Amino acid sequence: MTARILHADLVLPDPADQGIADGAVLVLDGRIELVGTYGEVHRRTAPQTPVHHFPGATILPGLIDCHVHLSMSGEGDAVATLDASDDRSLLLAMAGRAQELLNAGVTTVRDLGDRGGLAFALRDAIAAGRLPGPRILAAGAPVTVTGGHCWYLGGQADGVDEIRAVVRRNVQNGADVIKVMATGGGLTPDGPAPWVAQYTDEEVRAAVEEARRFGRPVAAHVHGSDGVRIALEAGVDTLEHCTFIPPPGSARGPDDAAAELIKKIAAEGASVCPTFSAVLGETIKRIGESGVRPWLDLVRHQHEQGVRLLAGTDAGIPGSGFGQYVDGLEWFARAGLDNGAILTAATSAAADALGIGHRTGRLRSGLEADLLVVDGDPRTELAALRRALLVLARGRALRPRGEFGGLR
Ligand SMILES: [Zn+2]
Repeated sequence: MTARILHADLVLPDPADQGIADGAVLVLDGRIELVGTYGEVHRRTAPQTPVHHFPGATILPGLIDCHVHLSMSGEGDAVATLDASDDRSLLLAMAGRAQELLNAGVTTVRDLGDRGGLAFALRDAIAAGRLPGPRILAAGAPVTVTGGHCWYLGGQADGVDEIRAVVRRNVQNGADVIKVMATGGGLTPDGPAPWVAQYTDEEVRAAVEEARRFGRPVAAHVHGSDGVRIALEAGVDTLEHCTFIPPPGSARGPDDAAAELIKKIAAEGASVCPTFSAVLGETIKRIGESGVRPWLDLVRHQHEQGVRLLAGTDAGIPGSGFGQYVDGLEWFARAGLDNGAILTAATSAAADALGIGHRTGRLRSGLEADLLVVDGDPRTELAALRRALLVLARGRALRPRGEFGGLR
């Protein structure tokens, strides 16, 4: 058994709560054993236990990216590159991207769409300790209409029977979560537009019912309010993007119907992953701050209405790289959320929404040892998260900056 104490100026067991000044975490093999003040943890631990001191640093739960696509490169031609890649080269590229996420302090990701179930293979190799990387929850091929959003990932299904069959096939292949494309999307310009619902109420309900039969949660890709309503009423667990993008020519910003839907999202306890990422920085360069302000305001409004928000970057789509997690968090700050709420969206709230709060997302005795030591205090400066001194993923240590020796 390998035990070690990590000691820092501040420990954040759950960023939603108070931190522990001069705190420590005892890690025993892959699990968190004790969390408390350094004095308490030291007193309750065998005297010869190695202690690693991190002056000026904060220990917090490992970060969770609720929306990634490991099969895409994050570059401008991500979809064309995916199409041109065979499975062997794609899987190797995905392994590299997983390592990049871990370097950035991300210890759990939810992959919401890849091709050929490659993310399942990568997930299993990482879980078995054969490759470094974050814990992966993977959807496999998203359920979409023929020619619809991301049809090229292999999950085309029209009508209730085909939808049920694709959900079952995903479960059989190893899916942890079912992804449904309830509206069109920007990555598939020849498919339905983002404000158009791809499926009827009955069809999305069938997908949710089938997923529930196998105990799988459902994530719905939604932009326009029709799709949001259909997905919400069908009982999906998470709403991805949820931009309420209106058809061209309509007034910008959410109308009364959208405002009602947002109240309903909060009341029913569904979560929203707005997929804020570095893409927004590029968008501002192209169309100016006024072009993204309505979306930022919408997300702040959702937060104020009590909607549980999740951090997720859509890493892999053009403009969203795998080392840019903190960029996405900074957009929540630009939207008007405080850092405590943002860190919660990146850790404990994300774990709860993904159904893995009993394994990760907090520093608590018995949970898996997913944690991050950063130089500074992310409650006052989110950019401190870019200065990871140590990343533990299920107890395995990674030292992105290499300053602290002696950890294996
Ligand atoms: Zn996506």
